[in-house]
Amino acid sequence: MSKAQISEIFQSIQGEGKYAGARQVFLRFFGCHMHCSWCDTPESIGDTTRNYKEMTLKEVVSQVKSLYKDCHSVSLTGGEPLLQVDFIAQLLPLMKKAKMPAYLETSGVLHKALSQVIKGVDVVSMDIKMPSSTGERAFWKEHEKFIDVILQNKKDFFIKAVVSSKTEKADILKAAKILSSKKKDALFILQPNTFDLGKGVVQKCDDFQRMCFKILPNTRVMPQMHKFMKIR
Ligand code: SF4
Repeated sequence: MSKAQISEIFQSIQGEGKYAGARQVFLRFFGCHMHCSWCDTPESIGDTTRNYKEMTLKEVVSQVKSLYKDCHSVSLTGGEPLLQVDFIAQLLPLMKKAKMPAYLETSGVLHKALSQVIKGVDVVSMDIKMPSSTGERAFWKEHEKFIDVILQNKKDFFIKAVVSSKTEKADILKAAKILSSKKKDALFILQPNTFDLGKGVVQKCDDFQRMCFKILPNTRVMPQMHKFMKIR
């Protein structure tokens, strides 16, 4: 029986993106392949702690079901959930059977893993990781392939870019151009980095939004609401 490394399972209100305000069960997978400089779940990356529980499919489904009352969907989040794609492939049919829609929160890089499970996913919340924001290399090609998989399968999705005090205009422009070339009316959310709110990131988002409007009309600015509400 397959097992997953799970950081935590809890019910809360989604604070980001298109479905902000929706009640969800959050199933947080342990481990991430990235090291974004502003990561708000460092305990789930795997660098500083091995704090997770090995759980069977049956245990995960049972806990998720017990928390699911009045929820919109189950957020498969992390870390990077697609690192445990074999487990997710087994989990999704069981979620469908229990009428619990799957909302995938991902760094938007692991397109091969996404291809394995996309048919069972209902909503994709995908990040675009810009080198000037994350402090890592660029992933433009991977992001393009990831978007292709979503579009080929006609899934509900939106793309989120975290804007930090270090984010450069050229990166935002590149992200917007890629997205616009794939889907002109795609929802693009500029999310000011919560840790940098006192460092002019809201003004930056304002400027970037005006710039993006020309090529991607559905660009919005939205902070992490759950941080303002002081909930998980
Ligand atoms: S992809 Fe997400 S979990 Fe991974 S390091 Fe970046 S912000 Fe943290």
